[in-house]
Amino acid sequence: MSTYRPPLQDMQFVLEHICDVRSLAKLEAFQSFDPDSLEDILTEAGRFFSEVFAPLNRIGDSTPSIRNDDGTVTTPPGFRDAYEAYVEAGWGSAAFGPEVGGGGLPWAVGLALQEMMTASNLALSLCPLLTQGGIHLLALHSSAAQRAKYLPKLVAGDWTATMLLTEPHAGSDLGALSTRAERADDGSYRLFGQKIFITWGEHDMADNTIHLVLARTPDAPAGSRGISCFIVPKYLPDASGSLGERNDITCVSIEHKLGIHASPTCVMSLGERDGAVGYVVGEENMGMVYMFTMMNNARLGVGLEGVGVADRAYQQALDHACERLQGRRPGTAAGARAPIVEHPDVQRMLLTQKAYIEAMRCLCYFNATALDLAQHHPDETERRAAQELCDLLTPLSKAWCTDLANETTSLALQVHGGMGYVEETGAAQYCRDVRIAAIYEGTNGIQAIDLVGRKLPVRGGAIVHELLDSVESTAEALHDDLSALRAPLTEAAAAARSCSDWLLAHPGDAALAGAAPYLRLLASVVGAWLLVRSAEAARAEIIAGATGAEADALEAKIVTAEFFCRQLLPQAMSLAPAVTGGAGILATLSPAQLR
Ligand SMILES: Cc1cc2nc3c(=O)[nH]c(=O)nc-3n(C[C@H](O)[C@H](O)[C@H](O)COP(=O)(O)OP(=O)(O)OC[C@H]3O[C@@H](n4cnc5c(N)ncnc54)[C@H](O)[C@@H]3O)c2cc1C
Repeated sequence: MSTYRPPLQDMQFVLEHICDVRSLAKLEAFQSFDPDSLEDILTEAGRFFSEVFAPLNRIGDSTPSIRNDDGTVTTPPGFRDAYEAYVEAGWGSAAFGPEVGGGGLPWAVGLALQEMMTASNLALSLCPLLTQGGIHLLALHSSAAQRAKYLPKLVAGDWTATMLLTEPHAGSDLGALSTRAERADDGSYRLFGQKIFITWGEHDMADNTIHLVLARTPDAPAGSRGISCFIVPKYLPDASGSLGERNDITCVSIEHKLGIHASPTCVMSLGERDGAVGYVVGEENMGMVYMFTMMNNARLGVGLEGVGVADRAYQQALDHACERLQGRRPGTAAGARAPIVEHPDVQRMLLTQKAYIEAMRCLCYFNATALDLAQHHPDETERRAAQELCDLLTPLSKAWCTDLANETTSLALQVHGGMGYVEETGAAQYCRDVRIAAIYEGTNGIQAIDLVGRKLPVRGGAIVHELLDSVESTAEALHDDLSALRAPLTEAAAAARSCSDWLLAHPGDAALAGAAPYLRLLASVVGAWLLVRSAEAARAEIIAGATGAEADALEAKIVTAEFFCRQLLPQAMSLAPAVTGGAGILATLSPAQLR
């Protein structure tokens, strides 16, 4: 079975040419980041994750985390040591600001590290990723005393964090949640209720877990305006951080799942005794607002899971295709069998994966750059523009990359033929593991609704039109050497423009019915645009004198962009009738017609 080979060269290429990491490094927030050290940072992280996390991926699949009778959870062999090594190496803190004990890397660079972690071992990576979400939320919204108490331990990775949102009757519709938070005399709260599907809700890899729990106070307004966010530590720490009493929150069971077997997905019960002690974050009833402010990071992180797992599956499929001999190529001697990588249909499957993966990587890293600029650009107008772009790109990154990861991991399995369907090969695990990414952190259907209902209407659609203006400008300015890319990109931008206008003119069910195909169409245009920009940068480097393997990789980027524009982009454009046709069929469909 293949090991993981971190795509260091492509990561560095995207960071330099799409994210302009050298400009990011000039921002005050990233003073401690030296862009000349980028290659070393990526190489070292690649070595760590491929050597320490990646070998545990199969072990975690076949030896899942288990819940013991006393409610504790035992992780698969090797996981504790790997997590300890991760904490010691400081990877978890690399992209947080020095003010919270972090390494001060831009988020775009942090994303490259995250991709390697996710690709190496999705199930294990979820523990630090949830912690990261908790850190963001607390850094933005908790009190100075809370930050002092919890952030150093979380940033260092000594403690982990979880998100307790979902309840049996409240999934996509979080406004329906009913976990209760009663005020206690000392200013704290006592929580009662049950949460389901809680990732890494209980485990043995860290001393303490800080649960961030959404709940309602007794007099809270109904719906999502009456939800507050609480810190509920597993062990109650004193002011110095020393661990005290065990809190009244327990893991009552863990789910048996399709994939990510090593990640314990817990049913958590709060308040089986006197109530779980909780401390409100910020103000009461602001819980959903706080969650939304960290959602861009979290959703982008899930989109990136798609990129990482898709890439690892692709690497294995490519290795298999180079080794497996079947059939012969025209013109070769009788009996001379060809590696399947030489057959055009296998090449189609491989290049489809490669093109989507590189486009997805561009999109996610570009999205992260917008996040960096939105938070740290010195000019307020620039910050606002970057925030708008980031808000628009986030549902694209989350839904497109995870939908595509489901498709490309399936193609990777297909390249293996029958052996792909057999667990020993490992190809099936990637499909099973990545399936969840389209579901959690807001299902992809909810992402499409967010795009059409909240993001597209910003400034009457101007943000989308401005993005498409940039796409068209790139197409117009293309050098003649790349002229084959111009027409498909221009036509696709025009299709996305007219679909956007149609959706804006038909709000309500008609727009909702076309939301998912619209998301795919728009994301494909943005992905194609970023690949075309990559091709332009690659061409410039070739002309500047790149040679040998470097020149081959640059040539390959041009081929990939051309394949995407000529073969994959037209497939996305064919969705235009589904975007606008929803009004005719789906918006008027009655449930009886589905029977
Ligand atoms: C492995 C795993 C890990 C998870 N980790 C966590 C975690 O750590 N913390 C946490 O709080 N939760 C977690 N979740 C829960 C996850 O976020 C939810 O499962 C997800 O948000 C969907 O909610 P649901 O399962 O209730 O599905 P539902 O909300 O019932 O949705 C079912 C289907 O209906 C669609 N749908 C629902 N409402 C609408 C609507 N208004 N318009 C159009 N379509 C709609 C959805 O898109 C979906 O296709 C996890 C889940 C799993 C399986």
